[in-house]
Amino acid sequence: METQTEHFECAIIGGGVAGLCLAIQLAERDVSVVVFEKGKYPFHKVCGEYISMESWPFLERLGLPLSELELPRINSLGISSDRGFMLDHRLEMGGFGISRYSLDHHLVEIALRKGVRVVQECRVTDVHGNAANGFQIRSSVGDFTSKVVCGSYGKYAPQFIHLKEEATSNADNQNYIGVKYHIKTDFPSNRIELHNFSDGYCGISKVDRDWYCLCYLTTARNLLENGKDVKQMEERVLYQNPFLKNYFTNSEFVHAQPLIISNVQFSKKQTGSNDIFLLGDAAGSITPLCGNGMSMGMRASKMLAEQLILFFNGKQTYGQAIKNYHLAWNAAFGTRIRAGYHLQKLFGKSRTTDLALKLLDQSPWLTSKLVSLTHGSVF
Ligand SMILES: Cc1cc2nc3c(=O)[nH]c(=O)nc-3n(C[C@H](O)[C@H](O)[C@H](O)COP(=O)(O)OP(=O)(O)OC[C@H]3O[C@@H](n4cnc5c(N)ncnc54)[C@H](O)[C@@H]3O)c2cc1C
Repeated sequence: METQTEHFECAIIGGGVAGLCLAIQLAERDVSVVVFEKGKYPFHKVCGEYISMESWPFLERLGLPLSELELPRINSLGISSDRGFMLDHRLEMGGFGISRYSLDHHLVEIALRKGVRVVQECRVTDVHGNAANGFQIRSSVGDFTSKVVCGSYGKYAPQFIHLKEEATSNADNQNYIGVKYHIKTDFPSNRIELHNFSDGYCGISKVDRDWYCLCYLTTARNLLENGKDVKQMEERVLYQNPFLKNYFTNSEFVHAQPLIISNVQFSKKQTGSNDIFLLGDAAGSITPLCGNGMSMGMRASKMLAEQLILFFNGKQTYGQAIKNYHLAWNAAFGTRIRAGYHLQKLFGKSRTTDLALKLLDQSPWLTSKLVSLTHGSVF
């Protein structure tokens, strides 16, 4: 039996924070939207699950009743070196904690209520076409067509996306892995701690329920040097930091196994490819320590929605939308991404980190300045 190809004004590849927020904003302005998501909601993701307060009003405007969810509000920061030194700092803007399981689930529920077509367990495998003639989207559940395509597929660019070489080259030529646990432990609900260890760091902060997110990022080399054995790496490397040893050995782990992602690279990518708009991690990302990636993805969705609505209302051409989105993206994130790369160099090396933290401990003003580079302004 022949199935009919469904047509939409906007197709969004990837239903994480960036894609879902974009879909909601477009649907609110009567644009017909489809979101393709290869996973099935709700599901867990490797993420530190700390969201900078810059995004709070935006999420509430989209319809997420954050104030009613009794989420932990975080205004205290601790950063430790593996030599046991802890820098304490009060966060001016701060953030809140919510698991990706809950956040993405709330967002998809809002999107569905606003009329977005969400196709789950559906991997987009190819996209053909262009702005002038429209796009054909091939997916694991069939073919679709659309006027506009947006890529919010996260860190891993699918094969049909062609990025410029300089956009794919990694700032520090490193391949990272991310590991996440949910734990129950004795820890203040208003605090986030970042614990350095050799070639990596691990964050801990409270999320919804009575869970804490314990999530770390380290080089793939670190895992290789420990026989690709996560437990062995934790015991040999992470436990060198006394704070981490304490959390790992004195907490209850909610799930027996961690969630792990590999082949993670942090690089400035680009805001479009062959007339496809890119946003969220697909457009560029920096290490979580330096950039609050979720807030960057949400902010990008707002900037892109503004440009696409002007296009759909006939107020600007497709070409103008591409150019204006690119300009807005660079203005919003250019400095933040550059600062993130420099900031990253301070961490991961035992002696440098220890010295940097002791210096920052003497200069709260400088610490505030550096922290503010990683948190944007409210939007
Ligand atoms: C270890 C680690 C810790 C982090 N901690 C934090 C933190 O505490 N705070 C913070 O703000 N940021 C953090 N980040 C960054 C944050 O997770 C990302 O910036 C954010 O998830 C980006 O959102 P996104 O919507 O662009 O991508 P994602 O949330 O990754 O969503 C992309 C979606 O696209 C889907 N997809 C991919 N390809 C296809 C396809 N071909 N077809 C259909 N669907 C597809 C995927 O299944 C996925 O659901 C962390 C990152 C890492 C690695």
